[in-house]
Amino acid sequence: MTANSPDTAAEATASSSLYEVHKKIYPKAVTGLFATWRWVLVWFTQALYYGLCWLPWNGRQAVLFDLVERKFYLFGLVFWPQDVFYLAVLLIISAYALFLFTAVAGRLWCGYACPQTVYTEIFLWIEQKIEGDRNARMKLDAAPMNGAKLAKRALKYGLWGLLSIWTGFTLVGYFTPIKTLAQEAVSLSFGPWEWVWIVLYSGFTYGFAGHLREQVCKYMCPYARFQGVMFDPDTLVITYDEERGEPRGTRKKSADHKAEGLGHCVDCGLCVAVCPTGIDIRKGLQYECIGCAACIDVCDQVMDKMAYPKGLIRYSTENALAKHWGAKDIVSHVARPRILLYSAILVAITVAWIWGLATKPSLRVDVIRDRMTLAREVEDGLIENVFRLQVMNVSETRQRYAVSVTGLERIALMGEPIIELASASNKNITFQVRVPPESAGKGSHTIYFDVKSLADEKVAVHEKAIFLMP
Ligand code: SF4
Ligand code: SF4
Repeated sequence: MTANSPDTAAEATASSSLYEVHKKIYPKAVTGLFATWRWVLVWFTQALYYGLCWLPWNGRQAVLFDLVERKFYLFGLVFWPQDVFYLAVLLIISAYALFLFTAVAGRLWCGYACPQTVYTEIFLWIEQKIEGDRNARMKLDAAPMNGAKLAKRALKYGLWGLLSIWTGFTLVGYFTPIKTLAQEAVSLSFGPWEWVWIVLYSGFTYGFAGHLREQVCKYMCPYARFQGVMFDPDTLVITYDEERGEPRGTRKKSADHKAEGLGHCVDCGLCVAVCPTGIDIRKGLQYECIGCAACIDVCDQVMDKMAYPKGLIRYSTENALAKHWGAKDIVSHVARPRILLYSAILVAITVAWIWGLATKPSLRVDVIRDRMTLAREVEDGLIENVFRLQVMNVSETRQRYAVSVTGLERIALMGEPIIELASASNKNITFQVRVPPESAGKGSHTIYFDVKSLADEKVAVHEKAIFLMP
C-alpha cells in the first residue's frame, strides 16, 4: 500500500487522538495579600528544610535519621527501631490534621505548603527574573534560537539545576550527617546510596518544579482526586460569585454597568492568566484548582481599579454563596458536628502521643536466655544458666547501671555487675547466673533481672526471665 493510497487517506481522516495535547501554561506574576502569604510560607518551609539539618544539638545533628546506627534523633529525643510506633502515630496525626484542615478550609495545604507548590513558586520566580513575565516568556518561547535566548535558557536551567542539587543534597543530609556529606561533596566521594538519592531527588525537583508543574497536581497527585470526599457545603473554597459577576463584559471604568446590564466581572481574563493550573475559576469549583488564591489577588486589584467592592473571587462556602451569608455566618458553621468529632479525635490522639513521648523510658532492657548454652552443673555443684542482656541507654547522657538478679534463694550473678553506656547507645552483655541445686526443684523457675541507673534510682527496669533446673 502506498502512502497516497485511498485506504491510508481514509484511516488518517478517521483517526483522532485519545489524549489532549498538553498546552504550556505561562502564569502571570501576581502580588497581593495571598501572594504575600504564599511567600511567607515559602520562606518558612524552606528555611526549615534547608536549615534544620545544619542545626547542632548536644554535639550531634539535631534532626537525623541515622540509618547505619538505626536511630532517629529529633532534638532531645532518640527513637530506636522499637519506637517505630511513635513515628507511625505521628504520621497518622499529620494525615488526620490534613483531612481536618481540608474539611474546614479546602486545599490550604496544596495552595501554600505542598513542596510541589513551593518549588514551582521558586522555580517560576527564577524564570520570571530571567525571561520576564507571561507575555515576554510566551514571546521568547515562540522566537527562534539565538544568542540571547540561549544565554537566558542556560542561566535559567543552570540555576534550576543548582537549586535542585542543593535540595537533593539537603534531603540526604537528613540521613547521613550533613557535615560528613559536605566533606564528601568536596571530593565527590559520596557512597553509592548517597549518590542514588542525591541524583534522584535533584532530578525529581528539577523535573517536577521546572517542567511538569501543574501536571503533577492534575495527573499524579492522589490527594487532588480524593479530597473532594472531604468537602461539604460548609467547606471554605475559592469561588467566583456568579450572581455578582454575571453577565460579564468589558466596559469603560466610568460606565454604569447596571444600565448596561452587566455584572462586576469585566471579563479581563486576568484570573485565568495568573492561574498556575490554567483554569477559569468562573466555571465553578474544579479539581484542578490547587487553592493558591492568585485569582483572588488579581481580581481584587481589578475591582479596586473599577471602584467595585473586592471579593468577586473570594474564600467562601457553597452554603454562604447560596444563602448570602457574611463572614460571621461562615465562621459559625465551622463548628459543625463532623468537624467537632474530627477535632476531638485529633486532640485525643495528639495528647496521647505527647504523653507517650513525655513518659518514654530512658532505659530499656531485653533479657534472652542463651539457647546455645543449656543449663549445666559447674564447680561446687552449682547450676548455671547463661543470659544475654541487651541494655539500651535511650537518654542523652552517659549512664552507669547496676545489674542484679533475684527470684531464687542464694541466686548469684557472675561477672561485672556495673555497666557503662554512652548516650543513645546499647550493649549486649552475657551473664552467668548460678543457683545451688537445693534452691529449686527440677523445671523452669521465674527469676528477675534488675537494671538500675547509679545516677537516678527511678531509672530502673525489672525484667522477667526463666531459669532452668536440670
Ligand atoms: S479577574 Fe475578576 S474581573 Fe477579571 S475576568 Fe476574572 S473574575 Fe472577571
Ligand atoms: S483557580 Fe485560582 S485558586 Fe485555583 S489554582 Fe487557579 S489561581 Fe489558584
